[in-house]
Amino acid sequence: MPEQLSPETQELRIQCQQFAREVMCAQDRADPVLARKNIRAASKDLGLFGMTQPSSLGGSQADQLTLTMVRETLAAENAPFMDAVFGPSPGVLGGVDDPLRSSHLLPLLAGEKRGSFGFTEPDDVESPTRGIIQGKTLRVTGQKSYVTGGADADFINTLVQIEDRGPSMVVIDKDLAGVDLEQKFSSLDGSHHAAFRFHDVEVPLTHVIGEPGKGLPRAMRQIGDTRLLIAATAMGYTLWVLELLTNHLKSPDKSGQPRGDKDVVRWRYAEQRIKAYAARSMLYRTARLADSGENIVNEAMAAKVFITEQVGDLVDTAIQLVGGSALIEDHPLAQLYRQVRAWRLAEGASDVLRLNIGRGILELDKGRI
Ligand SMILES: Cc1cc2nc3c(=O)[nH]c(=O)nc-3n(C[C@H](O)[C@H](O)[C@H](O)COP(=O)(O)OP(=O)(O)OC[C@H]3O[C@@H](n4cnc5c(N)ncnc54)[C@H](O)[C@@H]3O)c2cc1C
Repeated sequence: MPEQLSPETQELRIQCQQFAREVMCAQDRADPVLARKNIRAASKDLGLFGMTQPSSLGGSQADQLTLTMVRETLAAENAPFMDAVFGPSPGVLGGVDDPLRSSHLLPLLAGEKRGSFGFTEPDDVESPTRGIIQGKTLRVTGQKSYVTGGADADFINTLVQIEDRGPSMVVIDKDLAGVDLEQKFSSLDGSHHAAFRFHDVEVPLTHVIGEPGKGLPRAMRQIGDTRLLIAATAMGYTLWVLELLTNHLKSPDKSGQPRGDKDVVRWRYAEQRIKAYAARSMLYRTARLADSGENIVNEAMAAKVFITEQVGDLVDTAIQLVGGSALIEDHPLAQLYRQVRAWRLAEGASDVLRLNIGRGILELDKGRI
């Protein structure tokens, strides 16, 4: 539970609160490039930047409990430019040897190259992105539809169905002949994505990550790892919204009575606190299980589904209880309404994760209560 953190982690929590208030919130939002640069520099000084990078590659890899606490604390201040705090993590490139280690992994971690993740395909696609091995080359054809940061990336870690081998993760450099950036778009939360088409792209066979045909578990591990971080950030926003709502309900309405005096308002508020309590307990338990070396695939799915759905419901309820002013475009609740919505689809749609959790226990006897 968040109450039982070590003295060092508690100290770090105070430093993160100060960092969020004095560095992140103090940046000029009109100049995001400079703001991100300043935050990155300050994050390195505080030791946050390397926490998502392995020690063997020069990072200061933190355990899941610490990372959970840091993310929750920064989000609980509703601090802007969250994406600038942590350095790029290896993702599916974790553990690769040369040549990919020197050509892509190390430049990625140093911020010299940008990677992206190509997994999702358009709904109307005729066949999955496929590859044929021809000598020392893999010839790739297909489409990917929702590649976050794809337009600015140098390469796409792409799920490719290799003939006679099976699903594999392949590094596709964007400057290769036959890689077409078909569309750039933004989603409701403000993040940027791209759709790609691959026409007979000749990729060096050395760009297959790991063994051909063993890419799906690697891709799913990458997706699974991000579920806990989404849950932690969603939990931080929960704390922020609850504080806003608490202050609002303590303040008087036009009759002079505190807004929270009305039974129905109080009931709705209490309901949100009950769910937030369950969510936070779930989050910290899952982080501790991960650090003890347990397989948390099911628990991370459960935490992601529950916490992203509860923060969506909370923001919606908070807007209802605050009233029309909360819907004015630049009101923080209006902004959070847009921001938290994407999480119920990104890194696994809630319904699909529910199916997986059901399958985990009914068919594989996996998962805890
Ligand atoms: C902000 C954001 C960032 C993203 N970034 C990336 C990225 O970097 N790389 C990437 O590859 N993708 C990315 N995605 C795509 C994301 O992974 C998909 O949107 C998500 O997995 C859902 O897939 P889909 O959109 O194809 O919808 P579908 O799979 O068509 O699902 C739509 C709905 O259909 C139902 N459904 C689907 N399958 C089943 C089933 N088996 N059983 C029952 N019901 C089902 C569910 O209700 C589901 O919500 C991103 C998405 C968002 C919103």
